[in-house]
Formats: sequence, structure tokens, C-alpha cells
Amino acid sequence: MYELTIIGGGPAGVAAGVYAGRKKMKTAIVTDMFGGQSVVSNEIQNFIGYVAISGVELAGKMEEQLRAQEIDVMDGDRVARVEDKGDFLLITTEGGKSIESKFVLMTSGSARRKLGVPGEKEFDGKGVAYCATCDAPLFKDKRVIVVGGGNAGLESVVDLIPYASEIFLFEYKDTVKGDAVTLERIQKESKVKIFTHTQLLEIKGDTFVRSVKYKDIKTNEEKEMDVDGVFVEIGWIPNSRLVKELVSVNELGEIVVDHKTQKTSHPRIWAAGDVADVLYKQNNISMGDAVKAVLNIYEHLQKSGN
Ligand SMILES: Cc1cc2nc3c(=O)[nH]c(=O)nc-3n(C[C@H](O)[C@H](O)[C@H](O)COP(=O)(O)OP(=O)(O)OC[C@H]3O[C@@H](n4cnc5c(N)ncnc54)[C@H](O)[C@@H]3O)c2cc1C
Repeated sequence: MYELTIIGGGPAGVAAGVYAGRKKMKTAIVTDMFGGQSVVSNEIQNFIGYVAISGVELAGKMEEQLRAQEIDVMDGDRVARVEDKGDFLLITTEGGKSIESKFVLMTSGSARRKLGVPGEKEFDGKGVAYCATCDAPLFKDKRVIVVGGGNAGLESVVDLIPYASEIFLFEYKDTVKGDAVTLERIQKESKVKIFTHTQLLEIKGDTFVRSVKYKDIKTNEEKEMDVDGVFVEIGWIPNSRLVKELVSVNELGEIVVDHKTQKTSHPRIWAAGDVADVLYKQNNISMGDAVKAVLNIYEHLQKSGN
């Protein structure tokens, strides 16, 4: 019987594993890979302690530190099921392992919603980006498109204003639906142009993004525009499916947690990082929240013993 099973080896899961190991909790971590979503980034410039580090290098450092702990690392596998057995949780992996655990920490993260247009996959990391807070400085003096007129899209435009030379906000519907204050702020900027009822059709380039094809939905007219980057901000899908029937989730599918402790509505399940209802999705934040969760689970074990 494990005291704690961590599901997911992104920044949140690794941080949790390190703290659980140092607290000498009997811990297992199951993950298909290390490093999480930003593993695809060529340059992460806001990971505290590094001026810049590639996603792959950071993932390697995370794995190294995790493996230095006395915990059971089950990598190359995915959790298929989590079942409530009353006194414990039963975790079954796709690889056929059965794990009995007093507590589970969900650090299974999320996946960015994709446009699904030709060129998106090909130019991912070569002009196509999914995080303006992370990548805006890489687009200094460049012409960029932000796809998505919700809050995330508007915030991305704000992040890009100090860097990009021109920013085109593409929204499929007739109006952008983000925060009025943010909208006012970007409407004042001459370098920002808002295109409503506009659908991105294709991303083109050579070694990097060079142009896009798009359509005016009202007139059906197709056009082409030269750009250097495309930021996709059309939402994300939290990986909360495993525990959806056991815990409260919000309308986005994120696991609802108490932000002081990261505890969910289920007495044996905690959640941290992008899978939880955290406002800001960032490496540093997901790690801090996961540490909070482990310390709270540890305290819980000390007090109740189960
Ligand atoms: C392209 C991109 C670039 C980014 N750049 C930055 C940046 O520069 N700076 C920054 O601070 N943030 C950046 N972010 C955001 C940052 O990556 C996330 O906030 C962070 O990764 C969240 O960490 P997490 O551990 O909660 O989840 P994730 O990183 O999503 O990790 C979850 C892990 O769990 C695994 N998993 C999921 N389901 C299962 C399962 N059933 N069984 C086992 N394992 C499972 C996943 O495979 C993954 O390894 C970026 C995001 C993207 C998409």
C-alpha cells in the first residue's frame, strides 16, 4: 500500500515527487514522460534559476532530480483508471499495473486545444506557439496573429504588444468576448488590428512560418497574409477524465481545489498544476502548488495516519 500516488510527471508531478521523497512518504509516480507541456519549447526564459533553458534540457534535469529520490518511478506508462475502494484508491495502469494507495495527487496537466489546420503541426515551435506569456519575447519586431478572441487571446495580445511590430487578432465570431478593460487597452494600440468573423485556414512557411491563408466567414472570401508567427489561444483540455466521477470539476473540466491546500472534494484526492482550477497556467506555479499539496497530504497523514 502506497501512501501517495502521483499521476503525471510534468513540472507539478516532479516537484511533488521530490517533496514526497524528502518527507519519506511511500510514494509512486506514474507518467508517460517527463517535463510536461513545455518540453517542446526551444527556449524557456522564465523558469526561475535559468536565463534560458530548452524544454528538453529542463525535462532531463527534472527527471534526474526525481530519480534521486527514494520513490517508485513508473515511467513509460499511463494511468487508465482510478477507483475508490473506501479505505484506499485502486489505480490501474495501461501497462497492467495495479497500485493501492491511500492518497492520489493528480498532476496530469492539460493539452492545448489545437486548430487542426494544415501547417499547425508542421510549424509547432517554428512560429506556431501556444503560450504568449512564455514565447512573446521570441517575436521581437515580428508580425504575428493571435487566434481566439476570448480572455486568453486578449491577454496574449497584451503580452505581445511590447515585442511584436504588428498583431492581428482573429476571432471566428462577430465579436470578441474577452474582458472589456483588456479589450479597451488593446483597441488603443495602433499596432493591433482585430479581425472578427475570420477563420484561419492554413499556416504556410519554409523552415519557419511565413504566411497564413484565412477566410472572411461573411463574404466567404479567402485571403493570404504574410506573418512570422501564430499564437493559438482557443482553450485547453484538462486531463481530469480519470477522476471526473470522484471529484468536483468546473465547467471547463478543471478539478476544483481548495487553493490553500490543493485538496479536492474527495477526501483521498488532491490536484495541482494545469489540471486544477488554477488561474495562471505556468511551470513555476504548477510546481509550487504541487509542493503545497504534498505538504498538506503529509500533514494529513501525520494527524490521521490514514
Ligand atoms: C508550447 C508551450 C510552451 C510553454 N512554455 C512555458 C514557459 O516558457 N514557461 C512557463 O512557465 N510555462 C510554459 N507553458 C505552460 C506550462 O508548460 C504548464 O503550465 C505546465 O507544464 C503545467 O505543468 P503540469 O505538471 O501541471 O502539467 P503538464 O505539463 O501538462 O504535465 C502533465 C503530465 O502528466 C502526464 N499524464 C497525463 N495523463 C496521464 C495519465 N493518465 N497517466 C500518466 N501520466 C499522465 C502528461 O503526459 C504530462 O507528462 C507552456 C505551455 C505550452 C503548451
